[in-house]
Amino acid sequence: MKITEVRVKLLTGYEGDEKLRGFCSITFDDEYVVRDIKIIEGARGLFVAMPSRRVTARCQKCGNKNHLRARFCNECGVGLSSRPHSRHERGSTRLFVDIAHPINQEMRHLVHDSIMEEFELEVTRSEQREDGHDKSPYPQQRHISPKHRDDDDRSMEAGI
Ligand SMILES: [Zn+2]
Repeated sequence: MKITEVRVKLLTGYEGDEKLRGFCSITFDDEYVVRDIKIIEGARGLFVAMPSRRVTARCQKCGNKNHLRARFCNECGVGLSSRPHSRHERGSTRLFVDIAHPINQEMRHLVHDSIMEEFELEVTRSEQREDGHDKSPYPQQRHISPKHRDDDDRSMEAGI
């Protein structure tokens, strides 16, 4: 399986989560796309987080799904006691599980390196846009090559 396209959307000073540096989508074999991959600034540098969801547990009283850390049920308000959780190897409670992810080291490296490469390119491009010819008061009239323009607009809407 080959990575045929990587797209990165940079975030700067994103509200509420300044550790989140960007979103990314990856296409495999020109046929399968994974979106909502996050590029996060961690204590030991940038890392890639695959799309994930919060782990939930059902309320004993009404059956509503609540986040694991919730102290009260969102639906009926009953107090939630601490329940047995699935745990990481390191013993911490697993609050998120990945929805799609590589299952071997080789693919993990390939995905990570491809995203980081595109991320660096995108950072360079955005810096060039800032100190280059983009003195227009209308930021939407940036110099985007016509053949990519529509795609870029669409991916902005899709939030990647
Ligand atoms: Zn409940």
